[in-house]
Amino acid sequence: MDTFKALGLEEDLLLAINDLGFTSPSEIQEKAIPQLLTTATDMVALAQTGTGKTAAFGFPLIQSLDIHSRTTQALILSPTRELCLQITNEIKLYSKYKKGLKTVAIYGGASITEQAKQIKKGAQIIVATPGRMKDMIGRRMVDISKIAYCVLDEADEMLNMGFYEDINSILSHTPDDKLTWLFSATMPKEVATIAREFMHKPLEITVGTKNSGSTNVQHEYYTVSGRDRYMALKRLADANPDIFSVVFCRTKRDTQKVAEKLIEDGYNAGALHGDLSQNQRDLVMKAFRNKQIQMLVATDVAARGIDVDDVTHVINYQLPDEIETYTHRSGRTGRAGKSGVSMVIVTKSELRKIKSIEKVIQKKFEVKQVPTGIEICEIQLYHLASKINQTEINESINPYLPAIYDVLQHMDKETLIQKMVAVEFDRFFKYYQKYPDLNKVDTSRVADSEGKNSTRYFINVGERDDFDWKSLKDFLKETLDLGRDDVYNVDVKESFSFFNTDNKHTDAILEFFTDFKLQGRFINVEISSNKGGRRSGRRRSKPKFKDNNNYRRKDKRRGKKSDNGKGKGKRRNR
Ligand code: ADP
Ligand code: MG
Repeated sequence: MDTFKALGLEEDLLLAINDLGFTSPSEIQEKAIPQLLTTATDMVALAQTGTGKTAAFGFPLIQSLDIHSRTTQALILSPTRELCLQITNEIKLYSKYKKGLKTVAIYGGASITEQAKQIKKGAQIIVATPGRMKDMIGRRMVDISKIAYCVLDEADEMLNMGFYEDINSILSHTPDDKLTWLFSATMPKEVATIAREFMHKPLEITVGTKNSGSTNVQHEYYTVSGRDRYMALKRLADANPDIFSVVFCRTKRDTQKVAEKLIEDGYNAGALHGDLSQNQRDLVMKAFRNKQIQMLVATDVAARGIDVDDVTHVINYQLPDEIETYTHRSGRTGRAGKSGVSMVIVTKSELRKIKSIEKVIQKKFEVKQVPTGIEICEIQLYHLASKINQTEINESINPYLPAIYDVLQHMDKETLIQKMVAVEFDRFFKYYQKYPDLNKVDTSRVADSEGKNSTRYFINVGERDDFDWKSLKDFLKETLDLGRDDVYNVDVKESFSFFNTDNKHTDAILEFFTDFKLQGRFINVEISSNKGGRRSGRRRSKPKFKDNNNYRRKDKRRGKKSDNGKGKGKRRNR
């Protein structure tokens, strides 16, 4: 508290700060507040998201206004309706002991006459989105000709969203001698242009490095094949049972599709994109804030207003087109001093984008592996144990307990625990044991041919006998009467070759080749001790694709099941 006092803030603000529970100012507040209180200056302040920029301009603004006058004295422009409401809300909290101060929000999608009525009653502070503001100026519903302060919040976002013309037009209705404070997470050249055109020798304050992401965020990427994105997403969620995340997709269509699939698969997910009505978006955001939604799947535009503090993971389902956008995405986590993780699901061809992002955020990504089914089972088990440990017992179960004790009484404690945990374990285990490793890394590829269900053979024909991998494969298929993908991992050497089949064919194959001649020569086939055959690039994707289709169908069925309460009920309990 004393630390806020030292910045020069007055008693009514200190009281409100105390109510809010802020104990000490953040770095941007420490740097900006004293300057803004004591110097009549324009300012460009750069700090990552979640660093408390609202209070950095809000406190000095509130303290500087004349509450005895009803004239509109300050205009705060912000990119989205969500943010606009958020800022208004914060300002109201900060100014709760400042009797007579009125703050009004102006934004699209709500009654313009109602907003005009609010303003007419006299609002010293107007918080507005550029579109609606311009509209109301045009209809002479607001008068900003006497403002003393103009704040451009999230300036980079506003410019990203194409509000340059609107801002330009709005500012032309403001007096020349007002002070302009620009707050932004990043400093692309468009923001620099605004500063040059609309500001007078602005003081520049930077917290952290320009354009850098939050230091509380760990950046990770997972390399998978393009068609495995969704499965990778699910695994990342399953491996983080308490996930509370924003999942970014590139298009509205993908956003909707991914959210729908997640819901179908039993996750608490919701979609947020521009094709939804304002009402639908509000409902989704409300559910997200209340943590009824654990995975909010969103487009970049729709997510601009998201300002929820406890987001544990940002998942880049696809990378954004603009690198700058990545900074904004990852800034949705690691807020208000908490730590967060930004995960990127990439394909091999996108890896160079990771490099470019690293340059911009000035941090290295960790290369991570998509968790395997067994790792997920393990995580879920430990999670279950700790959940049981932390569960508070609801007294209303008491009447049922005698009957339940009766059923379970013959079991000792260890068996009971084992069985309880097995219920949960089996669900994941059965689901995951069939599916492959998703990581797009060569060594793990080799691993799936080393699996327990596969046998590798040696055969004494090779290039010398005019075989290549394809013709040898065809030859084996035809001779042994096997299906299209039954022979795999064919590796042809000069005078011999290797290939794989599933174990179920082994006996028949060995039997067949005990007495088989090709052009007068005995063909010898043996089980190979060389497990790690390298597949050719072309061969590689085939069996995976098959697994994949399987997986999708399974997903669907599983989803339906979960609706009857047999699926991943745990998610619905939250
Ligand atoms: P930004 O605009 O930089 O993204 P916000 O102003 O939205 O960040 O602040 C992020 C969160 O941190 C909000 O929940 C806010 O109430 C909280 N906050 C701001 N300043 C402080 C402070 N000094 N101490 C603790 N929490 C703070
Ligand atoms: Mg902000």
